[in-house]
Amino acid sequence: MRYSQDILDEIRNRLDIVEVISEYVPLKQSGKGHKGLCPFHQEKTPSFMVDSERQIFHCFGCGEGGNIFSFIMKIEKVNFPEAIKILAEKAGVQLPADKNQDDKVYRERDFILRLNDITANYYQRNLFQEQGKNAFQYLAKRHFKKETIQKYHLGYALSGYEHIISLFAQKKVQASDLIKAGLAVKSKKTGNVIDYFRNRIIFPIMNLQGRIVAFGGRVLDDQLPKYINSPETPVYSKGKHLYGLFQAKKSIRQKNQIIIMEGYTDVLMAHQYGFENAVASLGTALTTQQIDLIKRYADEVIIAFDSDTAGKNATLRSLNLVKKVGVKIRIISLPAESDPADVLLKKGEKYFSTLIKKALPLIDYKLEVLMQQYNPETSEGKVAIVRELFQDLNGINSHLELLTEVKKIAEKLGLEEDSMLKDLSRFRKGNKTLPNISAKNIAEETHVNAEKILIGNILQNRENIKKIFSELDIEYFTVREHREILSVIQEFYKRGEKIDIQKIMDKLGNQKEINLLSQIMMKDVVSSDEESFKRSINAIKKYRLQEEIKKLDSKIKKVQKEKKEITPEFLQDLRRSQELYKELEKQK
Ligand SMILES: [Zn+2]
Repeated sequence: MRYSQDILDEIRNRLDIVEVISEYVPLKQSGKGHKGLCPFHQEKTPSFMVDSERQIFHCFGCGEGGNIFSFIMKIEKVNFPEAIKILAEKAGVQLPADKNQDDKVYRERDFILRLNDITANYYQRNLFQEQGKNAFQYLAKRHFKKETIQKYHLGYALSGYEHIISLFAQKKVQASDLIKAGLAVKSKKTGNVIDYFRNRIIFPIMNLQGRIVAFGGRVLDDQLPKYINSPETPVYSKGKHLYGLFQAKKSIRQKNQIIIMEGYTDVLMAHQYGFENAVASLGTALTTQQIDLIKRYADEVIIAFDSDTAGKNATLRSLNLVKKVGVKIRIISLPAESDPADVLLKKGEKYFSTLIKKALPLIDYKLEVLMQQYNPETSEGKVAIVRELFQDLNGINSHLELLTEVKKIAEKLGLEEDSMLKDLSRFRKGNKTLPNISAKNIAEETHVNAEKILIGNILQNRENIKKIFSELDIEYFTVREHREILSVIQEFYKRGEKIDIQKIMDKLGNQKEINLLSQIMMKDVVSSDEESFKRSINAIKKYRLQEEIKKLDSKIKKVQKEKKEITPEFLQDLRRSQELYKELEKQK
């Protein structure tokens, strides 16, 4: 399906590229623009730039670039229409109805999201009415403020079997749809359709856009199971969401740090105490999908799981995953048998801040846990601990950092640093280390750079088009992508339309062309001074002359070498070659 230019403009007007990219890449203000680590190649120093004024991005490491649509296509690995759908949803722009399968899926999802909204409102109303008094008191006793309850849409599912069923019966919603949405379930005993959540405090789970995709329910007493979550539905799959992320997004980006906790109540309490970058994993260990999500938002992850054994095991399992994606991790050690909510309530925010500050890096935390697990007094224990740590030590790229870590471990375990290093190097030899991939830095040829300068000049001032094309032909541009860009620009110019970089990007079919265009705009090769403009035109002319001379010369040489008869054509080539040489002289 093709979308009209109006729709593309509407989406663009409502979204800011910096905001959209920030959901995937932590960005920092840098000069006029924003800077971050490129999501399209591995790098340690940022070369990924976002220009909010022109609404484009470009990576000077790998060359990827474009506008908001190209970004979504690349990062979500989707085609253009799918990227538009994603962005339209973000922007709240309604796309014209499409009668294909996609649309059916979309409508179904939208329907379930609306059912969830109605349900969440209903649950919340319960909390503030007589029948929800015990639930409200439960929350109040645990020091949840009314604002928190409202901001996170907490609610209460009454006891009884048919509250949701009858709520939606009035609205003529089928029971089968309620089952599909995970709001009702067929009773195994009676075969009747009954409410899914009964007599539980309700914690709505939101997606990145703030729509409610599922619910978590907690009992008010010590009954088991303590928590149940919505089943998988067309809008919710386990392990894909993080509780509180929608509300935490902004703070996570600002702090470039995310705190991961285990439970709903931990997150709510953390937010209430000003730690608004906290989210919950909605299960014990983190999943790879959640880690991908985390990686989009922050460079540093603080893990604050419960201090019981299950929490520790979850931490270790999560760490192995997080480590692989190359985010910085530190782990908070909570006092024995406590969770973050307890700690905040008992000791306050200052204490929790110090816990964050003192959170241990991965290896130190592991060493601490391993020393409890194995006996560090025995040599078997020492070997076991060191063996487990080698995996992590192996992942350290900086030699200095490695030496520091080894020294620390050796000291704690009473081992010799040197022998540990020797063992490690033996361990390493069994492993292939990945070579560093760095973008090739090939100096650009003068004429190619000149082509870019001219394209940049046109984009800054449409009147330059006339000047350029009075001197040069599109064919003079040697880079195919530059010629494509120019012919799109020419089309706009001929139709008397504004030459708009966003629209040019929409028109260009080829990603390589879009990459080049964003590079041209961001590289500041664009200078409006007359001198560089002239120099660029000359550089292109000169290169063309040189190329033509090269061709003629090789032709002439060939004739001379083969001692062929002198033809009028040969004489003409010879004359032309001399002319070109003279012209080239003039250029210098
Ligand atoms: Zn890159």
